[in-house]
Amino acid sequence: MKTIFEKSNGSNGINLADNVEDIDFISKEFFRDSEIGLPQVSELEAMRHYKELSDLNFCIEKGFYPLGSCTMKYNPKVNEFLASLEGFNIHPNVGDDKAQGALKLMYNLQSALLKITGMDALTLAPSAGAHGEMTGMMIIKKYFDTIGENRKTVIIPDSAHGTNPASAKMAGFDVVSIKSNDKGQVDIEALKEVLNGDVAAIMMTNPNTLGLFEEGVEEISNLMHKNGSLLYYDGANFNAIMGYTNPKLMGFDVVHLNLHKTFSTPHGGGGPGAGVVAVTERLKDYLPTPLVDFNGKEYFRNYDLKHTIGSVKDFYGNFSVFVKAYAYILMLGKNLKNASENAVLNANYLKEKLKTYYDLPYDVPCMHEFVLSGEKQKHENGISTLNIAKAMMDSNTHPPTVYFPLIVHEAIMIEPTESENKEVLDDFVNTMIKIADECKNNPEYILSSPHTTPVRKIDEVTAARHPDLKFTEGN
Ligand SMILES: *Cc1c(COP(=O)(O)O)cnc(C)c1O
Repeated sequence: MKTIFEKSNGSNGINLADNVEDIDFISKEFFRDSEIGLPQVSELEAMRHYKELSDLNFCIEKGFYPLGSCTMKYNPKVNEFLASLEGFNIHPNVGDDKAQGALKLMYNLQSALLKITGMDALTLAPSAGAHGEMTGMMIIKKYFDTIGENRKTVIIPDSAHGTNPASAKMAGFDVVSIKSNDKGQVDIEALKEVLNGDVAAIMMTNPNTLGLFEEGVEEISNLMHKNGSLLYYDGANFNAIMGYTNPKLMGFDVVHLNLHKTFSTPHGGGGPGAGVVAVTERLKDYLPTPLVDFNGKEYFRNYDLKHTIGSVKDFYGNFSVFVKAYAYILMLGKNLKNASENAVLNANYLKEKLKTYYDLPYDVPCMHEFVLSGEKQKHENGISTLNIAKAMMDSNTHPPTVYFPLIVHEAIMIEPTESENKEVLDDFVNTMIKIADECKNNPEYILSSPHTTPVRKIDEVTAARHPDLKFTEGN
């Protein structure tokens, strides 16, 4: 791989000074006396090199990306253009009077997201889903501290996203895990067993990570509230229910949304995101500051919240993400509902087409995603889910999430999203059928996949434990 990733042919990209001795504004003691050993290429070669590397990457612009749990859909490019408009490029320290347009956009976005979630107040500040979770859990903690109840535990179903227990823990709670029942739903009896005066909240999502709607959600919220506890909703992937129902109707008190999954900011490269947090009326005063408010005349940043947990992000969050989300919501309007409808339809279509070829542990209608199992291929052909995932890469398909949720053995978690059409879905079905056939008839081929990618099978453990991130000349 060295020839692809590393380049240095000695041509000089830039010449800072012909005669370093002429530089008199840096003390001589800071001068290097040996070569720094940086790669040497010309500007044009450097550009070609990075373009070539980027072409090796797989991305949603290149092919199908059915990543379960982490909504990887196409987002309109026009929203990137809108976010980069010159007028939105404002210094974060300008006064409210000089930023009325930007504040209005944030205020309107808050209002739209409140309508979508059904909640009463919202902060745009957190910059990721997990950041939103932590913010929400800090709000819950401060709420109980303020009302003089020292509740220490948070209940989390075993199907929850891995960030949930981490966030609860970071906010100072102990985590109690409860098992799902054989229908893939929260086991209400198991919940009752761990429910006591020590429980601050339950963190869950609906649909859950199996893509199934929690039918007992009303009973769960009644039980929790009767116990004096709160309910937290992980709304990272909101395209299952948007416009049809909302967390408030289901009895939740706090919800976070990932604008960088459902609302038009692409994600995956660690770029800016927004894990906005919405709460019901009684938690409003605990939100982080500032909120954006309107006094009938002007928009302003409101720092005046009685029990605020303080600030969770410098300034007010990632503004460009807000522009994209706002543009997306305005663009779709009432059709946001169709996005959910198509996300659910696409998932059910794939589920029905694939269930005769792969095990489907929960054979019921799903929401925006579903979970297959590679158990059959493992037992009958000795081929693991990891091998199946690698084989998909030979068909211009990013592998779905695998081995999650943990409660399904050899899990293959598929979320096609609303942005794909039937032709793409049918191609994917054919790919999966071909792989299932090959597992039976040509297992060696699947076991040695992928065959067509720039890098073949990667030693992922070594790559994670001993990453080689440094260019060393002549290495
Ligand atoms: C992606 C995701 C998160 C975490 O969001 P980040 O922005 O990656 O921190 C939390 N919960 C669920 C269900 C998710 O899919």
